[in-house]
Amino acid sequence: MKDPHGYSITETGTPETGFPETISKLPDVGTTIFTVMSRRAAEQGAVNVGQGFPDYPIESSLAECVTEAVASGFNQYAPMEGSLALRAAIAAKIAAAGGRAVDPETELTVTCGGTESIFSAIQAVVGPGDEAIVFDPAYDAYDPAIRLAGGRCLHIPLAAPEFRYDWDRVRAAVSDRTRLIIINNPHNPACTVATASDLDTLARIVREAGSRDRPVLVLADEVYEHVLYDGRVHQSVMNHAELRERSFAVYSFGKTLHITGWRVGYCVAPAAMTRELRKVHQFNTFSIAAPLQAAIALYLQRHPLAFREVAKFFGAKRELLLRELAGSGLSLPPAQGSYFQLADYGGLAACSGLSDVAFAERLINEAGVAVIPLSPFYREPPPTMRIVRLCVAKRDETLVEAARRIRAYTSGT
Ligand code: GLN
Repeated sequence: MKDPHGYSITETGTPETGFPETISKLPDVGTTIFTVMSRRAAEQGAVNVGQGFPDYPIESSLAECVTEAVASGFNQYAPMEGSLALRAAIAAKIAAAGGRAVDPETELTVTCGGTESIFSAIQAVVGPGDEAIVFDPAYDAYDPAIRLAGGRCLHIPLAAPEFRYDWDRVRAAVSDRTRLIIINNPHNPACTVATASDLDTLARIVREAGSRDRPVLVLADEVYEHVLYDGRVHQSVMNHAELRERSFAVYSFGKTLHITGWRVGYCVAPAAMTRELRKVHQFNTFSIAAPLQAAIALYLQRHPLAFREVAKFFGAKRELLLRELAGSGLSLPPAQGSYFQLADYGGLAACSGLSDVAFAERLINEAGVAVIPLSPFYREPPPTMRIVRLCVAKRDETLVEAARRIRAYTSGT
């Protein structure tokens, strides 16, 4: 069966499995676009600038921390909430980055990547009859988690190419059924960042819509918190006087330390919300790989300001990709944040009639480059979506080669 986007290269269970689709809890969900595109890239031998993960080695001093952690005996279950050393190091990092004081005992939980924080937070607060609001293009983990919790997911579009919030639409969508509003800042895949005024408006909406017994909560996916460009400053819900009282804020070492495969993230939330989150987390993943937590704690103790390098590092890669794609005919609004860059191919006469999914297929098959189309992130994709996402968290050689192949392809079309 096809998903609602008609996205033909996703897959769902086949009838032969003996599992009738009628009892599927997520009948319309296929394999995530990230997995599909990485698999296709491997099959085709394409340069993979699709799924967001670094293709360069991790720092040797970080790798050594793992060896050290294993040798020191961090090989059994870590505490359910996360290793205290790691939580203390995270609290110190938050303070060093100018954030508010976070109590590592009661307000911080280590999870299996940012994704588990998102999933556990949603299960903790959304139930049957509740509604949660997401903004399309929405990261693909949000909607299924809301539905699995029994909730209804309302999708509010951010219109391309600016992808700005239409707060009047949000106000109109909020009701006494609203339990959660999910924002993503910096935004993946739109590559935009929220302004202080966006957060103030969100705070006002949440205040006016909720009541003491039935507050509207916020889930802020801030995994790209340190990846903002051109001098932009991250506006975190954690540092917003009002929003921090009712927000889960989600972070990821995968992004900040270039270790997506370690699957270590964390959630910061007020103590009462953290308690609820942990009730789910303890029966979901229980605790996160002990040696990896110990290794990250060691690394943060030794490199407390490592987070400061991240924006510069990815900024240079974004510049390189923009430079190498100049003359490709693609329009490239410089990313404001995240480690992605959007490319609009609407100006290419030979391709402008293709859907973004079809264009991504052509790029894989004919140019040998894997990218991510944007329409799978919409419940109702705009009919003229002509934008794809490229990941800049790649070796310079990878970015140069991807751009060379794209240029060769677009100049030949
Ligand atoms: N966050 C990554 C991206 O946006 C994908 C993670 C995943 O594949 N689940 O590309």
